[in-house]
Amino acid sequence: MNQSKTIFFSNFDLNSLIRDNILNMDPYLSAREEFQEKDFIFLDANENSFGSPLSFSNSYNRYPDPLQMELKEKISKIKNIPSSKIFLGNGSNEIIDLIYRIFSRPKIDHSIIFPPTYGMYEISGKIHEVDVIKIHLTKEKYQLNLKKIENVINQYSKIIFICSPNNPTGNDIKREDIQKVIKKFSGIVVLDEAYIDFSDQESFSLEIEKYPNLILIQTLSKSWGLAGLRIGMAIASEEIIQWMNKVKYPYNVNQISQEIAIQALDNKDLFFFHLKNILLERKYMKKSLKEIPIIEKVYPSSSNFLLVKITNSSRNLYKYLIENNIIVRDRSKIILCNECLRITVGTHDENKYLINQIKKYSKKYFGDHPKKINN
Ligand SMILES: *Cc1c(COP(=O)(O)O)cnc(C)c1O
Repeated sequence: MNQSKTIFFSNFDLNSLIRDNILNMDPYLSAREEFQEKDFIFLDANENSFGSPLSFSNSYNRYPDPLQMELKEKISKIKNIPSSKIFLGNGSNEIIDLIYRIFSRPKIDHSIIFPPTYGMYEISGKIHEVDVIKIHLTKEKYQLNLKKIENVINQYSKIIFICSPNNPTGNDIKREDIQKVIKKFSGIVVLDEAYIDFSDQESFSLEIEKYPNLILIQTLSKSWGLAGLRIGMAIASEEIIQWMNKVKYPYNVNQISQEIAIQALDNKDLFFFHLKNILLERKYMKKSLKEIPIIEKVYPSSSNFLLVKITNSSRNLYKYLIENNIIVRDRSKIILCNECLRITVGTHDENKYLINQIKKYSKKYFGDHPKKINN
């Protein structure tokens, strides 16, 4: 059997990747999808026509727009992508789940991920009983190992997850490598760009036309500061977006989240102001951390966090920081992240306090010259 036949881009055939149960399903048509004009008398969805027991005027007695058209229009303008190529989910986590649902058969197909990376790709695979094949990123530089990827791909490889900038390492994956994977693989490539606004790299969103097998993931949770609203975005071909719309829960993004997101997206000045400050603070943190003796390495970051390697030991520093009211993420048990902590960029005061605490710890345990003691 010539397995490699199935992996080349020229053979990409969307319908052949979609699970039969999905392909043959008539989707639920929600009441609000049929009629949306404001001046009807709506007696079709068993809502409470008298309203909700809230003291302020609102329309929360009504189901929200199932396809979030107004919000998508806003996003469409900001990102310069047609609404028809955008899907909104209850966080990116819903999007990852949907992609598994649509494209992989439990116990038959597999996905491919590149650790150390975001944990949900694997967890969601496990939930769906889909095998997750792991090909580690290269050491230190945290880049794709293209040779190994090519060797592992077969006709059961349905989804490849690439995260760039990557979590928890913080770096960009090389653009040419990402392009190679998208072009060579005839399954679905999910490129998670949750942190793209913090990077110098261009998003792939403007090239989405070129890649019928690409699904981009973005989110309002990070650069937009709206993690509490739970709004994730997928950007892909219209065909893929339509499949996602068919499979999602009818009202997957609630009314309040839609309304508040629309307000926030109107305030681009404040968005850019925060973004600029995060980038300045990232630089300040990096410089300050590098000067502390127990910090062995601060990895390059294109995101809003820094991966930091500690000499002796990340665990102790982690605990020390908790005792001093600071929670960072201990990633030391993760492959290729030995002795590493992942630290989110905070406000200037928070970062100053953090750096002082790490300096104190460094001094307390190692004096001023820990590297000499250790070597
Ligand atoms: C934070 C993050 C997300 C965002 O998840 P939401 O569910 O949208 O909040 C997605 N991918 C990665 C890699 C992340 O780190």
